[in-house]
Amino acid sequence: MQIVITGGAGFIGGNLVQALAEQPHVTRLRVVDNLSTGDKANLAGLDVDFFEGDVQDAALLDQAFHGADAVVHLAALPSVPRSLQDPLASHHANATGTLQVLEAARRAGGPHVIAASSSSVYGSNPHLPKHEGLATAPMSPYAVTKLTTEAYLSAYHHSFDLPVLPFRFFNVYGPGQRADHPYAAVIPKWISATLAGEPVTIHGDGTQTRDFTYVGTVCRVLTDALLHRVVDPRPVNLAFGTRLSLLDLLAAIESTTEVRALKEHTGPRIGDVSHSQADGARLRVLFPRVQPVAMSEGIAETVTWLGTRP
Ligand code: NAD
Repeated sequence: MQIVITGGAGFIGGNLVQALAEQPHVTRLRVVDNLSTGDKANLAGLDVDFFEGDVQDAALLDQAFHGADAVVHLAALPSVPRSLQDPLASHHANATGTLQVLEAARRAGGPHVIAASSSSVYGSNPHLPKHEGLATAPMSPYAVTKLTTEAYLSAYHHSFDLPVLPFRFFNVYGPGQRADHPYAAVIPKWISATLAGEPVTIHGDGTQTRDFTYVGTVCRVLTDALLHRVVDPRPVNLAFGTRLSLLDLLAAIESTTEVRALKEHTGPRIGDVSHSQADGARLRVLFPRVQPVAMSEGIAETVTWLGTRP
């Protein structure tokens, strides 16, 4: 089986390439990545063909997709705040990039296309838990680009019979997720600050909740979807329904690191939703073989990785 991973030099991509490299049925792995937020070091020691460039480059995609059985499309400019700074850049990379990937897939004879959308599409819809039938209500340009990604996958399935599967990732965390950039996610940022004895910034009162998913669990689901060729044009939540407040998250980090964090409260962030929790029922039906890694185990792995980085 030949698989292309766009965004394969990123956090989730690097973990996925590593997981797929261990699968006996996977014979060839190719990565397309422009290294805008990713790092080739995430692929160190792995047997991959690397195509450096943008997913908006049709000729590059034609080379990379030739003979591929499946494409996992992860390339995107992630983060809500980044999209507030430069909405057009997010649109080009995430929405136009997805359209180019789908066009290239069509030219390549129709490989299985799995793509990353985001829980941010639920936006201001207050209903909890978030099930896939709820109305979407994006609150940021980033969320619009992810909704567009899903819509294009569905359209290509219905218009061109392309076998697709869009996933709504929730808050993914784990080894490989960097803390040292302005758009870093909360878990690596807080673990790094706590280990360094620096203050931890809490936006709002910290009672907002998130459904955190360990990256190893995400990779298990993606691997299962690839190996069993799961096709569905309707988006599937990729989270198991954990509801953890940010204050409880910080307590878990303190307990794992055995360090008392210095807390600093600031105002809430624009575009952030207050509560996020997945309804994981469809995920469990489609992937009965996958059990999630427990939060305590995932946090411990992440602390170890961040604590041993140079
Ligand atoms: P990441 O930034 O680590 O990875 C994204 C990768 O895409 C990087 O390697 C980057 O260099 C590459 N890239 C960006 N724009 C590109 C372009 N135009 N052409 C080619 N490559 C490009 O982020 P991640 O956390 O690994 O996210 C992977 C996917 O999952 C993204 O689509 C993101 O929107 C989605 N997602 C992530 C989360 C999360 O919690 N991490 C949550 C919801 C959705």
